[in-house]
Amino acid sequence: MNENISPLFIVDAMFGKLGKFLRLLGFDTEIANSDLKDSQIFEIALKTNRILITRDKKFYETAQSQLKKRNLSPNMALFIPFQEIVEELVEIFSILGIDPESFIWKEGEDIPFQSFQSRCSMCNHELIIVEKISIIEKIPLNSATNFMKFWQCTNDNCGKIYWIGRHWEDIRNKLIKVKRIMQDR
Ligand SMILES: [Zn+2]
Repeated sequence: MNENISPLFIVDAMFGKLGKFLRLLGFDTEIANSDLKDSQIFEIALKTNRILITRDKKFYETAQSQLKKRNLSPNMALFIPFQEIVEELVEIFSILGIDPESFIWKEGEDIPFQSFQSRCSMCNHELIIVEKISIIEKIPLNSATNFMKFWQCTNDNCGKIYWIGRHWEDIRNKLIKVKRIMQDR
């Protein structure tokens, strides 16, 4: 995906799982702290040009009336009343015209970090590729044995290490489901 047209998101605290998933797909995504008020979350969304994702109908309606007052696109706040990642992504991608195909890598390829620039699921910072030798003491032995490529979060306070383990198959399968559902619509 083109970095320049990739939307930024802010999700309310209930959407932690979706937020992390969006980060792995390369979307710059803030997960709002649970003690922030709706008005504060909306303020951050406006200031940082992020699309608000909420499953709170009231919050959504307030956000819509604020967007209208300010002459901003209604797509800057999305009402996503689902509990499941696949349904959530179908709705978000449909509204924003995002093609799920651009995230689906070929089976056996270990390069979702090259197809799209994943961000750290924990802290939203960018990842860089690192030499195995430099992080080998921080990863489980079987991952060190079975994987060749590793990436690390660039946030010094986080430093989470990534490799294309089993869960990436699950991510890929979810994206394929999203694509099928969108095609059938
Ligand atoms: Zn991180």
